[in-house]
Amino acid sequence: MKNPKIPEKYLSTFDETYQGFQLYKTLDPKLYREMDSVFKRARQFSREIAAPMALHIEREIRRAPTNKEPVWEFVRAAGKAGLLSLTIPKKFGGGGYSWATCVILFEELCSVCTGLGNIIGGHYLGMFVMRNTFSLARTAEVFREIVANETSIKPVLLASAMTEPSVGSDHTEVGLWESARPQSEARPVEGGYILNGRKQFISCGRLSTYHLVFMSTDRKNYMDSMATFLMRSDAKGFSFGRDEKKMGQLATPATEMIYEDCFVDESNRLTPYFGPIAKKTTDFMGFTRLLIGAMATGAARGAYERALTFARDTTVRGEVLVNHQWAQMVLGDMYMNVLISRAAVQEGFFSDVNHGMNKMFLPAKRNGYRRKQIIDGVLTAGASQFGSDLLQQRKMRHSVGKAIGWVMDHAGLNTPIMNTFTSTAKAKCSDLAMMNANLGIDLMGSFGLRQDEGMEKILRDIKLLQIYEGTNEICTFGVFQRIVADHDFGIRMWSKSQ
Ligand SMILES: Cc1cc2nc3c(=O)[nH]c(=O)nc-3n(C[C@H](O)[C@H](O)[C@H](O)COP(=O)(O)OP(=O)(O)OC[C@H]3O[C@@H](n4cnc5c(N)ncnc54)[C@H](O)[C@@H]3O)c2cc1C
Repeated sequence: MKNPKIPEKYLSTFDETYQGFQLYKTLDPKLYREMDSVFKRARQFSREIAAPMALHIEREIRRAPTNKEPVWEFVRAAGKAGLLSLTIPKKFGGGGYSWATCVILFEELCSVCTGLGNIIGGHYLGMFVMRNTFSLARTAEVFREIVANETSIKPVLLASAMTEPSVGSDHTEVGLWESARPQSEARPVEGGYILNGRKQFISCGRLSTYHLVFMSTDRKNYMDSMATFLMRSDAKGFSFGRDEKKMGQLATPATEMIYEDCFVDESNRLTPYFGPIAKKTTDFMGFTRLLIGAMATGAARGAYERALTFARDTTVRGEVLVNHQWAQMVLGDMYMNVLISRAAVQEGFFSDVNHGMNKMFLPAKRNGYRRKQIIDGVLTAGASQFGSDLLQQRKMRHSVGKAIGWVMDHAGLNTPIMNTFTSTAKAKCSDLAMMNANLGIDLMGSFGLRQDEGMEKILRDIKLLQIYEGTNEICTFGVFQRIVADHDFGIRMWSKSQ
């Protein structure tokens, strides 16, 4: 497989790439510097290390699907570059970067390989969920472990397990929760819970040292009893099942997770209180859909860059392809798709800042931005104050849960607005990326179909972005619900006939 490197002169700088974020130059120079710094680190890593590895890993996974060593090589390189802990608070040894910088990290990574990007993506999803459970002591311990092992032979990765054989889309959209019928269950027992059931298609599952698993503690009352548990992936009663043989993103294993009378002690139930926080977790989904939008923007850009490199290097009917007017039209179109896609991600980003969880932690104002420190501060204080005392943890979880509930209820969060924008980013960016991969293959003709030319890989990788984190259809229904149906009681949503 070729590794066509796009010449530097065709790559835009941070300011050229992110028009919207230039606002931060005056609003919040510190945040601007953080974004610029992540951009440079991610771009250098993607181009110099990830891009050449992507080709090797794709080939190796095809040859020996169970051999994960090539994937670990990549994870170790990402660890060395500090990319597994960028958003972990400095107090725990992490980069201390704002979560906002993730949109930049994932665009850069996925511009060279969405499969490799999703390994890091699955890990950050796990960290994000964990941080937002507000389970301070355990989060601090795991974050410290991630940092301590970042440059080791086996870095600590996280995964998140929601999907199961009987529940897919129903988990990803709050309107569908009432009809969801999960088969897995966490049964409360003395000192903890016994977990039974199966999860499937879990990104990074097999690579994870820890994973977060979502299970209800009362199957009859699924929605209000859903909890998040932290599991070590080598726990007794837990095992990995198959890794799916999927069409794209071969580097990221999508693993079946099996729980057979698996005991989890009380301290590893992370969600501080049931019910209301479960509903608010859809807000977490809002942010993660934004990240899928950023990944798709990167993938769309990767398709454009591959097509441009091909057009510069190929002669058609005695003339370099890029000099043909029709090729210029296609390449211009592809570039515009990238810009539209990035604009959708930025709108989603600002909707989160204005209406979502990040309203509390990341307002686009200088003073407000300092509030981002609240969560890191709470994490830090909670960890050092309560250590590993179980009773104290329970008490703390109860009171912290109440406090979080109060803050969430009074913070003026408007998750319907945020979800509308982030779902739009997820669905439309992945559609635009797919359009770019198709245009790229058309431009390259039969070369585009060859495995060693890279473009068909881009198309296969992008298809998966249209499915996970809520299918694009489900995102579209969700948007319609929020902007129309929720304001008109005459409209019925999610009817059985759909
Ligand atoms: C590569 C990959 C990685 C993944 N990683 C993870 C992970 O890390 N963690 C995790 O928990 N999950 C993960 N998933 C699961 C993913 O979130 C689900 O696949 C996704 O939510 C869709 O669910 P499903 O596959 O069960 O499809 P289904 O829900 O069965 O949907 C099938 C079709 O029916 C449509 N549909 C479903 N319900 C309705 C309805 N009510 N009305 C109208 N149409 C409907 C859908 O749009 C789709 O077209 C991953 C999936 C993939 C492919």
